[in-house]
Amino acid sequence: MLEYHKNLEIFGDIEEVSMDNYKAYLGNVIYSQDKDTLVVKEKSYILVQDGIVQGIFKDLPEGFPQENIIDWGNNLIIPGFSDMHVHASQFLQRGMGMDKKLLDWLNTYTYPTEAKFQDKEHAKKIYGLFVDELVRQGTLHVNCFSSIHYEASEILFELLLERGLFAFTGKLNMDQNSPEFYLEDTESSLRSTEVFISNYRQKGNVQAAIVPRFTITCSEELLAGLGKLAQQYGTPVHSHMCEAISTIKASKELFPNYKNEAEVFYHNNLLGQTPTIMAHCIFMDDDVVQLMQNPNCMAVHCPDATANINAGGIMPVKKLLEMGINLAIGSDIGSGASLSIARGIASTIQHSKIRNMFDPQWEAVNLSEAFYMATRSGGRYFNKVGAFDKGYHFNALVIDDSNFPGENLTSLERLERFCYAGDDRNIVMRYIVGKELII
Ligand SMILES: [Zn+2]
Repeated sequence: MLEYHKNLEIFGDIEEVSMDNYKAYLGNVIYSQDKDTLVVKEKSYILVQDGIVQGIFKDLPEGFPQENIIDWGNNLIIPGFSDMHVHASQFLQRGMGMDKKLLDWLNTYTYPTEAKFQDKEHAKKIYGLFVDELVRQGTLHVNCFSSIHYEASEILFELLLERGLFAFTGKLNMDQNSPEFYLEDTESSLRSTEVFISNYRQKGNVQAAIVPRFTITCSEELLAGLGKLAQQYGTPVHSHMCEAISTIKASKELFPNYKNEAEVFYHNNLLGQTPTIMAHCIFMDDDVVQLMQNPNCMAVHCPDATANINAGGIMPVKKLLEMGINLAIGSDIGSGASLSIARGIASTIQHSKIRNMFDPQWEAVNLSEAFYMATRSGGRYFNKVGAFDKGYHFNALVIDDSNFPGENLTSLERLERFCYAGDDRNIVMRYIVGKELII
Protein backbone atom coordinates (compact mmCIF):
# COMPACT_ATOMS: atom_id res chain seq x y z
CA MET A 1 0.00 0.00 0.00
CA LEU A 2 2.79 2.40 0.92
CA GLU A 3 4.68 1.66 -2.26
CA TYR A 4 1.55 2.33 -4.23
CA HIS A 5 1.01 5.62 -2.47
CA LYS A 6 4.49 6.67 -3.58
CA ASN A 7 3.56 5.99 -7.19
CA LEU A 8 0.52 8.18 -6.81
CA GLU A 9 2.50 11.23 -5.81
CA ILE A 10 2.01 12.63 -9.29
CA PHE A 11 -1.62 13.16 -8.28
CA GLY A 12 -0.70 15.52 -5.48
CA ASP A 13 -1.79 15.11 -1.88
CA ILE A 14 -3.77 11.89 -2.08
CA GLU A 15 -4.13 10.44 1.37
CA GLU A 16 -2.44 7.23 2.32
CA VAL A 17 -5.31 4.77 2.03
CA SER A 18 -5.95 1.48 0.35
CA MET A 19 -6.13 1.79 -3.42
CA ASP A 20 -9.20 -0.40 -3.36
CA ASN A 21 -11.16 2.74 -2.58
CA TYR A 22 -10.01 4.50 -5.73
CA LYS A 23 -11.77 4.31 -9.06
CA ALA A 24 -10.69 5.98 -12.28
CA TYR A 25 -13.36 6.86 -14.86
CA LEU A 26 -11.96 7.37 -18.36
CA GLY A 27 -13.77 9.51 -20.92
CA ASN A 28 -14.12 13.01 -22.36
CA VAL A 29 -14.83 15.08 -19.27
CA ILE A 30 -16.78 18.34 -19.33
CA TYR A 31 -17.94 20.55 -16.45
CA SER A 32 -18.47 24.23 -15.64
CA GLN A 33 -15.84 26.20 -13.79
CA ASP A 34 -18.01 29.31 -13.81
CA LYS A 35 -20.65 30.75 -16.13
CA ASP A 36 -18.07 31.67 -18.77
CA THR A 37 -15.78 28.65 -18.53
CA LEU A 38 -16.48 25.10 -19.57
CA VAL A 39 -13.60 22.84 -18.59
CA VAL A 40 -12.97 20.16 -21.22
CA LYS A 41 -10.51 17.33 -20.54
CA GLU A 42 -10.49 14.87 -23.36
CA LYS A 43 -9.53 11.25 -22.83
CA SER A 44 -8.87 11.82 -19.14
CA TYR A 45 -9.40 9.97 -15.89
CA ILE A 46 -11.61 11.26 -13.10
CA LEU A 47 -10.05 9.80 -9.98
CA VAL A 48 -12.68 9.09 -7.33
CA GLN A 49 -12.20 7.92 -3.75
CA ASP A 50 -15.27 6.68 -1.88
CA GLY A 51 -17.54 8.64 -4.22
CA ILE A 52 -15.57 11.89 -3.95
CA VAL A 53 -13.62 13.42 -6.85
CA GLN A 54 -9.88 13.62 -6.18
CA GLY A 55 -8.82 15.15 -9.47
CA ILE A 56 -8.77 14.70 -13.24
CA PHE A 57 -5.63 13.31 -14.82
CA LYS A 58 -4.33 12.52 -18.25
CA ASP A 59 -2.49 9.41 -17.08
CA LEU A 60 -2.63 6.96 -14.25
CA PRO A 61 0.50 5.81 -12.46
CA GLU A 62 2.02 2.52 -13.36
CA GLY A 63 0.40 -0.26 -11.42
CA PHE A 64 -2.99 1.37 -10.90
CA PRO A 65 -5.31 -1.63 -10.50
CA GLN A 66 -6.86 -2.41 -13.89
CA GLU A 67 -10.06 -3.59 -12.25
CA ASN A 68 -10.55 -0.11 -10.77
CA ILE A 69 -10.49 1.57 -14.18
CA ILE A 70 -13.92 2.15 -15.73
CA ASP A 71 -13.24 2.84 -19.37
CA TRP A 72 -16.02 4.81 -21.05
CA GLY A 73 -14.01 5.14 -24.24
CA ASN A 74 -15.02 8.05 -26.41
CA ASN A 75 -18.15 8.86 -24.37
CA LEU A 76 -18.71 12.17 -22.59
CA ILE A 77 -18.74 12.34 -18.79
CA ILE A 78 -20.66 15.32 -17.41
CA PRO A 79 -22.09 16.24 -13.98
CA GLY A 80 -25.66 15.14 -13.16
CA PHE A 81 -28.32 17.77 -13.79
CA SER A 82 -30.14 19.87 -11.20
CA ASP A 83 -33.86 20.50 -11.67
CA MET A 84 -34.53 23.33 -9.27
CA HIS A 85 -38.26 23.75 -9.72
CA VAL A 86 -40.63 20.88 -10.38
CA HIS A 87 -44.04 19.69 -9.13
CA ALA A 88 -43.93 15.95 -8.45
CA SER A 89 -47.70 16.02 -7.94
CA GLN A 90 -48.25 17.24 -11.51
CA PHE A 91 -46.47 14.31 -13.13
CA LEU A 92 -49.74 13.03 -14.62
CA GLN A 93 -50.86 16.28 -16.21
CA ARG A 94 -47.90 17.03 -18.45
CA GLY A 95 -48.82 18.47 -21.80
CA MET A 96 -52.49 19.10 -20.99
CA GLY A 97 -54.51 22.30 -20.91
CA MET A 98 -51.76 24.25 -22.57
CA ASP A 99 -54.24 26.61 -24.24
CA LYS A 100 -55.39 27.90 -20.87
CA LYS A 101 -54.02 30.85 -18.91
CA LEU A 102 -52.23 30.09 -15.66
CA LEU A 103 -55.02 30.66 -13.12
CA ASP A 104 -57.60 28.89 -15.28
CA TRP A 105 -55.19 26.02 -15.87
CA LEU A 106 -54.57 25.64 -12.14
CA ASN A 107 -58.29 25.46 -11.38
CA THR A 108 -59.18 23.14 -14.25
CA TYR A 109 -56.27 20.70 -14.25
CA THR A 110 -53.80 21.19 -11.45
CA TYR A 111 -55.84 21.37 -8.26
CA PRO A 112 -57.97 18.29 -9.10
CA THR A 113 -54.78 16.41 -10.08
CA GLU A 114 -52.96 17.35 -6.89
CA ALA A 115 -55.99 16.65 -4.67
CA LYS A 116 -55.71 12.94 -5.60
CA PHE A 117 -52.54 12.68 -3.51
CA GLN A 118 -54.69 12.41 -0.43
CA ASP A 119 -54.70 8.72 -1.35
CA LYS A 120 -51.41 7.24 -0.14
CA GLU A 121 -51.45 4.39 -2.67
CA HIS A 122 -51.82 6.91 -5.49
CA ALA A 123 -48.93 8.94 -4.03
CA LYS A 124 -46.67 5.87 -3.84
CA LYS A 125 -47.41 4.89 -7.42
CA ILE A 126 -47.12 8.32 -9.05
CA TYR A 127 -44.19 9.60 -6.99
CA GLY A 128 -42.40 6.33 -7.73
CA LEU A 129 -42.86 6.94 -11.45
CA PHE A 130 -41.76 10.56 -11.02
CA VAL A 131 -38.52 9.69 -9.23
CA ASP A 132 -37.74 6.98 -11.81
CA GLU A 133 -38.22 9.49 -14.60
CA LEU A 134 -35.96 12.04 -12.88
CA VAL A 135 -33.19 9.46 -12.77
CA ARG A 136 -33.85 8.38 -16.35
CA GLN A 137 -33.40 11.99 -17.50
CA GLY A 138 -30.15 12.38 -15.57
CA THR A 139 -31.53 14.68 -12.87
CA LEU A 140 -29.60 13.76 -9.73
CA HIS A 141 -30.35 16.92 -7.74
CA VAL A 142 -33.88 18.20 -7.42
CA ASN A 143 -36.01 20.77 -5.66
CA CYS A 144 -39.61 19.60 -5.81
CA PHE A 145 -43.07 20.45 -4.59
CA SER A 146 -45.32 17.72 -3.25
CA SER A 147 -49.02 18.45 -2.56
CA ILE A 148 -50.73 19.83 0.57
CA HIS A 149 -50.94 16.31 2.02
CA TYR A 150 -48.59 15.41 4.84
CA GLU A 151 -48.45 11.67 4.18
CA ALA A 152 -47.91 12.01 0.45
CA SER A 153 -45.08 14.45 1.18
CA GLU A 154 -43.48 11.88 3.47
CA ILE A 155 -43.74 9.28 0.70
CA LEU A 156 -42.01 11.58 -1.78
CA PHE A 157 -39.25 12.39 0.72
CA GLU A 158 -38.61 8.70 1.39
CA LEU A 159 -38.53 7.82 -2.32
CA LEU A 160 -35.96 10.53 -3.02
CA LEU A 161 -33.93 9.30 -0.07
CA GLU A 162 -34.14 5.66 -1.18
CA ARG A 163 -32.81 6.58 -4.61
CA GLY A 164 -29.92 8.49 -3.04
CA LEU A 165 -30.76 11.76 -4.82
CA PHE A 166 -29.76 15.17 -3.49
CA ALA A 167 -33.05 16.95 -2.90
CA PHE A 168 -35.17 19.58 -1.21
CA THR A 169 -38.84 18.76 -0.90
CA GLY A 170 -41.74 19.87 1.24
CA LYS A 171 -45.43 19.86 1.99
CA LEU A 172 -47.27 22.53 0.04
CA ASN A 173 -49.13 25.33 1.85
CA MET A 174 -52.41 26.86 0.62
CA ASP A 175 -55.05 28.40 2.88
CA GLN A 176 -56.94 30.72 0.53
CA ASN A 177 -58.09 31.23 -3.07
CA SER A 178 -58.15 27.52 -3.76
CA PRO A 179 -61.11 25.17 -4.27
CA GLU A 180 -62.77 23.68 -1.17
CA PHE A 181 -61.51 20.19 -2.05
CA TYR A 182 -57.90 21.38 -2.04
CA LEU A 183 -57.48 23.81 0.81
CA GLU A 184 -56.04 23.82 4.33
CA ASP A 185 -56.92 25.93 7.32
CA THR A 186 -54.10 28.16 8.47
CA GLU A 187 -53.50 26.50 11.79
CA SER A 188 -53.32 22.93 10.53
CA SER A 189 -51.16 24.01 7.59
CA LEU A 190 -48.62 25.50 9.98
CA ARG A 191 -48.84 22.61 12.41
CA SER A 192 -48.29 19.89 9.81
CA THR A 193 -45.47 21.89 8.21
CA GLU A 194 -43.69 22.13 11.54
CA VAL A 195 -44.07 18.39 12.13
CA PHE A 196 -42.76 17.71 8.62
CA ILE A 197 -39.69 19.91 8.87
CA SER A 198 -38.82 18.74 12.36
CA ASN A 199 -39.17 15.06 11.35
CA TYR A 200 -37.47 15.44 7.99
CA ARG A 201 -35.00 18.25 8.54
CA GLN A 202 -32.27 16.32 6.79
CA LYS A 203 -31.90 12.62 6.05
CA GLY A 204 -29.09 11.47 3.80
CA ASN A 205 -28.90 14.11 1.13
CA VAL A 206 -32.59 15.03 1.25
CA GLN A 207 -33.73 18.06 3.18
CA ALA A 208 -37.20 19.36 4.06
CA ALA A 209 -38.18 22.70 2.53
CA ILE A 210 -40.95 25.17 3.30
CA VAL A 211 -43.12 25.57 0.21
CA PRO A 212 -45.86 28.19 0.15
CA ARG A 213 -47.39 27.74 -3.31
CA PHE A 214 -47.39 31.47 -4.12
CA THR A 215 -48.65 34.61 -2.46
CA ILE A 216 -52.15 34.30 -3.94
CA THR A 217 -52.94 31.03 -2.16
CA CYS A 218 -51.42 32.00 1.19
CA SER A 219 -52.81 34.40 3.80
CA GLU A 220 -50.32 36.72 5.42
CA GLU A 221 -50.90 34.90 8.70
CA LEU A 222 -49.78 31.67 7.02
CA LEU A 223 -46.77 33.33 5.36
CA ALA A 224 -45.68 34.92 8.64
CA GLY A 225 -45.96 31.57 10.43
CA LEU A 226 -43.97 29.82 7.71
CA GLY A 227 -41.27 32.50 7.84
CA LYS A 228 -40.98 31.98 11.57
CA LEU A 229 -40.57 28.24 11.07
CA ALA A 230 -37.99 28.76 8.31
CA GLN A 231 -35.89 30.87 10.65
CA GLN A 232 -36.39 28.64 13.67
CA TYR A 233 -35.33 25.48 11.83
CA GLY A 234 -32.98 27.07 9.25
CA THR A 235 -35.16 25.53 6.54
CA PRO A 236 -34.85 26.39 2.82
CA VAL A 237 -37.83 28.11 1.18
CA HIS A 238 -39.23 27.30 -2.26
CA SER A 239 -42.02 29.17 -4.04
CA HIS A 240 -43.08 30.99 -7.22
CA MET A 241 -42.56 34.70 -7.73
CA CYS A 242 -43.04 37.32 -10.47
CA GLU A 243 -44.36 34.58 -12.74
CA ALA A 244 -47.13 35.99 -14.92
CA ILE A 245 -48.88 39.30 -15.43
CA SER A 246 -52.12 37.77 -14.09
CA THR A 247 -50.57 36.46 -10.86
CA ILE A 248 -48.71 39.71 -10.20
CA LYS A 249 -51.96 41.64 -10.56
CA ALA A 250 -53.87 39.25 -8.28
CA SER A 251 -51.13 39.37 -5.65
CA LYS A 252 -51.10 43.16 -5.69
CA GLU A 253 -54.84 43.20 -4.99
CA LEU A 254 -54.47 40.73 -2.12
CA PHE A 255 -51.45 42.43 -0.54
CA PRO A 256 -52.01 46.16 -1.19
CA ASN A 257 -49.54 47.20 1.51
CA TYR A 258 -46.62 45.73 -0.38
CA LYS A 259 -45.07 46.94 -3.63
CA ASN A 260 -44.64 43.46 -5.07
CA GLU A 261 -44.52 39.73 -4.26
CA ALA A 262 -40.84 39.89 -3.29
CA GLU A 263 -41.68 42.37 -0.55
CA VAL A 264 -44.47 40.13 0.72
CA PHE A 265 -42.04 37.24 1.03
CA TYR A 266 -39.17 39.34 2.37
CA HIS A 267 -41.18 40.98 5.14
CA ASN A 268 -42.43 37.57 6.22
CA ASN A 269 -38.89 36.11 6.43
CA LEU A 270 -39.31 34.00 3.32
CA LEU A 271 -36.82 35.66 0.99
CA GLY A 272 -33.12 35.36 1.66
CA GLN A 273 -33.21 34.83 5.42
CA THR A 274 -32.60 31.12 4.69
CA PRO A 275 -31.69 29.54 1.29
CA THR A 276 -34.54 30.66 -0.96
CA ILE A 277 -35.43 29.30 -4.37
CA MET A 278 -37.96 31.28 -6.38
CA ALA A 279 -39.32 29.92 -9.63
CA HIS A 280 -39.80 32.18 -12.66
CA CYS A 281 -38.73 35.71 -11.60
CA ILE A 282 -39.70 37.03 -15.02
CA PHE A 283 -40.97 40.46 -14.09
CA MET A 284 -38.62 42.01 -11.56
CA ASP A 285 -38.24 45.71 -10.75
CA ASP A 286 -34.84 46.99 -9.68
CA ASP A 287 -35.68 46.67 -5.99
CA VAL A 288 -36.68 43.01 -6.48
CA VAL A 289 -33.44 42.38 -8.38
CA GLN A 290 -31.59 43.89 -5.43
CA LEU A 291 -33.31 41.52 -2.98
CA MET A 292 -32.50 38.56 -5.22
CA GLN A 293 -28.80 39.51 -5.35
CA ASN A 294 -28.52 37.98 -1.88
CA PRO A 295 -26.29 34.86 -2.13
CA ASN A 296 -29.00 33.00 -0.22
CA CYS A 297 -31.43 33.49 -3.12
CA MET A 298 -31.78 31.65 -6.39
CA ALA A 299 -34.08 32.39 -9.33
CA VAL A 300 -35.16 29.42 -11.44
CA HIS A 301 -35.78 29.78 -15.14
CA CYS A 302 -38.46 27.40 -16.43
CA PRO A 303 -38.53 28.22 -20.14
CA ASP A 304 -40.97 25.57 -21.36
CA ALA A 305 -43.46 26.31 -18.60
CA THR A 306 -43.25 30.04 -19.28
CA ALA A 307 -44.09 29.47 -22.93
CA ASN A 308 -46.79 26.86 -22.31
CA ILE A 309 -48.85 28.87 -19.86
CA ASN A 310 -48.07 32.14 -21.66
CA ALA A 311 -46.69 34.12 -18.74
CA GLY A 312 -46.51 37.23 -20.92
CA GLY A 313 -42.74 37.53 -20.82
CA ILE A 314 -39.42 35.68 -20.72
CA MET A 315 -36.92 35.76 -17.86
CA PRO A 316 -34.08 38.21 -18.67
CA VAL A 317 -31.50 35.49 -18.08
CA LYS A 318 -28.45 37.30 -19.44
CA LYS A 319 -29.20 40.42 -17.41
CA LEU A 320 -29.71 38.46 -14.19
CA LEU A 321 -26.50 36.48 -14.77
CA GLU A 322 -24.58 39.71 -15.31
CA MET A 323 -26.10 41.13 -12.12
CA GLY A 324 -24.75 38.19 -10.14
CA ILE A 325 -28.07 36.55 -9.29
CA ASN A 326 -27.83 32.80 -8.71
CA LEU A 327 -29.71 31.11 -11.53
CA ALA A 328 -30.85 27.57 -12.22
CA ILE A 329 -33.12 25.74 -14.66
CA GLY A 330 -36.40 24.05 -13.73
CA SER A 331 -38.57 21.67 -15.74
CA ASP A 332 -41.67 22.88 -13.85
CA ILE A 333 -43.85 19.98 -14.92
CA GLY A 334 -46.85 19.99 -15.43
CA SER A 335 -46.72 23.44 -17.08
CA GLY A 336 -43.42 22.22 -18.47
CA ALA A 337 -43.95 18.98 -20.35
CA SER A 338 -40.61 17.19 -19.98
CA LEU A 339 -38.34 16.39 -17.07
CA SER A 340 -35.28 16.67 -19.32
CA ILE A 341 -32.93 19.39 -18.11
CA ALA A 342 -30.81 18.86 -21.24
CA ARG A 343 -33.87 20.07 -23.11
CA GLY A 344 -34.11 22.92 -20.56
CA ILE A 345 -30.60 24.00 -21.55
CA ALA A 346 -31.56 24.20 -25.23
CA SER A 347 -34.84 25.99 -24.38
CA THR A 348 -33.02 28.50 -22.19
CA ILE A 349 -30.79 29.46 -25.11
CA GLN A 350 -33.69 29.54 -27.59
CA HIS A 351 -35.88 31.68 -25.35
CA SER A 352 -33.12 34.15 -24.65
CA LYS A 353 -32.68 34.57 -28.41
CA ILE A 354 -36.37 35.38 -28.74
CA ARG A 355 -36.11 37.84 -25.85
CA ASN A 356 -33.07 39.42 -27.47
CA MET A 357 -35.21 40.32 -30.50
CA PHE A 358 -37.36 42.53 -28.28
CA ASP A 359 -34.65 43.65 -25.86
CA PRO A 360 -31.41 43.85 -27.87
CA GLN A 361 -29.57 45.43 -24.94
CA TRP A 362 -29.00 41.94 -23.56
CA GLU A 363 -27.41 39.25 -25.69
CA ALA A 364 -28.72 35.71 -25.79
CA VAL A 365 -27.15 33.27 -23.35
CA ASN A 366 -24.76 30.67 -24.71
CA LEU A 367 -24.14 26.98 -24.03
CA SER A 368 -21.58 27.69 -21.30
CA GLU A 369 -24.02 29.87 -19.36
CA ALA A 370 -27.01 27.55 -19.74
CA PHE A 371 -24.98 24.43 -18.85
CA TYR A 372 -23.63 26.26 -15.78
CA MET A 373 -27.21 27.02 -14.66
CA ALA A 374 -28.20 23.38 -15.14
CA THR A 375 -25.25 21.92 -13.22
CA ARG A 376 -22.88 23.90 -11.01
CA SER A 377 -25.07 26.92 -10.29
CA GLY A 378 -28.25 24.86 -9.91
CA GLY A 379 -26.53 22.55 -7.44
CA ARG A 380 -25.07 25.28 -5.24
CA TYR A 381 -27.37 24.73 -2.23
CA PHE A 382 -26.64 21.03 -2.14
CA ASN A 383 -23.40 19.74 -0.79
CA LYS A 384 -20.68 19.97 -3.49
CA VAL A 385 -22.49 18.72 -6.58
CA GLY A 386 -22.73 19.83 -10.20
CA ALA A 387 -19.01 19.91 -11.06
CA PHE A 388 -15.87 17.78 -10.81
CA ASP A 389 -13.71 19.93 -8.53
CA LYS A 390 -11.61 18.08 -6.00
CA GLY A 391 -13.85 17.25 -3.02
CA TYR A 392 -17.09 17.25 -5.05
CA HIS A 393 -19.42 14.25 -5.07
CA PHE A 394 -18.99 12.11 -8.15
CA ASN A 395 -22.56 12.61 -9.38
CA ALA A 396 -22.13 12.07 -13.08
CA LEU A 397 -23.72 11.07 -16.35
CA VAL A 398 -22.10 9.15 -19.17
CA ILE A 399 -23.32 10.29 -22.58
CA ASP A 400 -23.03 7.89 -25.51
CA ASP A 401 -23.84 9.80 -28.70
CA SER A 402 -22.59 7.17 -31.12
CA ASN A 403 -26.07 7.01 -32.68
CA PHE A 404 -25.36 10.41 -34.26
CA PRO A 405 -23.22 10.35 -37.36
CA GLY A 406 -20.39 12.88 -37.46
CA GLU A 407 -16.64 12.92 -37.45
CA ASN A 408 -13.99 15.15 -35.94
CA LEU A 409 -16.39 16.89 -33.62
CA THR A 410 -15.13 18.53 -30.46
CA SER A 411 -16.47 17.36 -27.12
CA LEU A 412 -18.30 20.68 -26.75
CA GLU A 413 -20.01 20.27 -30.12
CA ARG A 414 -21.11 16.83 -29.00
CA LEU A 415 -22.42 18.18 -25.68
CA GLU A 416 -24.40 20.84 -27.52
CA ARG A 417 -25.82 18.27 -29.91
CA PHE A 418 -26.86 16.05 -27.01
CA CYS A 419 -28.74 18.96 -25.40
CA TYR A 420 -30.54 19.89 -28.61
CA ALA A 421 -31.02 16.58 -30.37
CA GLY A 422 -30.36 13.83 -27.85
CA ASP A 423 -32.55 12.31 -25.19
CA ASP A 424 -32.42 9.98 -22.20
CA ARG A 425 -31.41 7.06 -24.43
CA ASN A 426 -28.01 8.72 -24.80
CA ILE A 427 -27.46 8.61 -21.03
CA VAL A 428 -25.91 5.19 -20.61
CA MET A 429 -24.84 5.50 -16.97
CA ARG A 430 -25.71 7.62 -13.95
CA TYR A 431 -23.47 7.75 -10.87
CA ILE A 432 -24.44 9.18 -7.52
CA VAL A 433 -21.64 9.51 -4.96
CA GLY A 434 -19.76 7.06 -7.14
CA LYS A 435 -22.51 4.41 -7.14
CA GLU A 436 -24.27 3.25 -10.27
CA LEU A 437 -27.91 4.27 -10.36
CA ILE A 438 -29.96 1.63 -12.10
CA ILE A 439 -33.08 2.66 -14.00
ZN1 LIG B 1 -44.21 25.75 -10.65
